Amino acid sequence: MIKVHNFCAGPCLLPDEVYKGAADAVLDFNGSGLSILSISHRSKEFIAVLEEAQYLALSLLGLEGKGYSALFLQGGASMEFLRVPYNLMQTRAGYIDTGNWSSKAITQAEAFGQVEVLASSKDRKYVYIPEDIVIPSGLDYVHYTSNNTIYGTQFNDVPKADCPIVCDMSSDIYSRVYDCDKIDLIYAGAQKNIGPAGLSVVLVKDSILGKSGRMIPQMMDYAEHIDKGSLYHTANVFAIYTSLLNLRWLQHLGGVEAIEKINIQKAATLYRAIDELDYVVGLADVAYRSRMNVTFDFKEETMKSVFDTLCMEANITNIKGHRVAGGYRASLYNALKQESVDALVEVLHTMKSKI
Ligand SMILES: *Cc1c(COP(=O)(O)O)cnc(C)c1O
Repeated sequence: MIKVHNFCAGPCLLPDEVYKGAADAVLDFNGSGLSILSISHRSKEFIAVLEEAQYLALSLLGLEGKGYSALFLQGGASMEFLRVPYNLMQTRAGYIDTGNWSSKAITQAEAFGQVEVLASSKDRKYVYIPEDIVIPSGLDYVHYTSNNTIYGTQFNDVPKADCPIVCDMSSDIYSRVYDCDKIDLIYAGAQKNIGPAGLSVVLVKDSILGKSGRMIPQMMDYAEHIDKGSLYHTANVFAIYTSLLNLRWLQHLGGVEAIEKINIQKAATLYRAIDELDYVVGLADVAYRSRMNVTFDFKEETMKSVFDTLCMEANITNIKGHRVAGGYRASLYNALKQESVDALVEVLHTMKSKI
């Protein structure tokens, strides 16, 4: 296999041992003679997988034993844009608009009640995180996006409010030490830092549910999914198993404390190059730079083709910016190695002699 440095923003790369474990299980799951693709989601073997995944999903964030349930559902993060207001909105919710994904969540919530946009960084194309956000009392919940995958910005803290806090943590979950227990509902599309696409992970404090006053269709109802242990219907068995392998990998590494140190190092390496080289510009405000998605561009349009060619030669792939943001984006998710960042930095330096 050729060595490719994959900076894809999602689906993300996963550790080699996770790929290997998942591939082995397709052929023979745990020596059972059966493929993971063909076992029952109600078999005791899969229930054990699900329970361990639920346990790790909570304990890695320090949420085990604190009244949270862990759900593994289908539909991705976009389905949670809808499930959150379905379950939590009575009349009025607050949303912080820090990018494309936040705006999509807002649009979905508007179908269920009154949405107050508490702050927005749209005025400067989402390159920063609003400060000193005033959150009125009496809201049903406040929703924010901890890491803005497309624009490369990240919240440093959890906003404070006197109502439940909901966070779309799709692209920075399990990447850093964070006050997760100040958040009442965390959701994430699995494909950014957890596992394969087609799955969402929801960590919800049970006590915030059951207050919407509306009839919730069962597929949309968190309480129903909790009651059925994420087995209301056929679970995404393969994606859950692969996610479990990845959560185990993270735990063996030393959990989020350990990966945070590595992630700080990777991001620092790349941002240093961006700041040092006068032909490269970082797109996000320095105070809010994301450690997961690093957005940058070049001063001159002509430099882009030089960079693209050098990337190709160095086996660097998936580095184009999102179509709504332009420029370039290097996603440094947990499984991306320092050597990949080093390869990218080398390309950025090599450009000096080619432009
Ligand atoms: C990718 C992403 C989403 C959308 O996830 P899907 O699983 O594709 O629905 C939502 N929010 C954030 C922050 C994301 O990065």
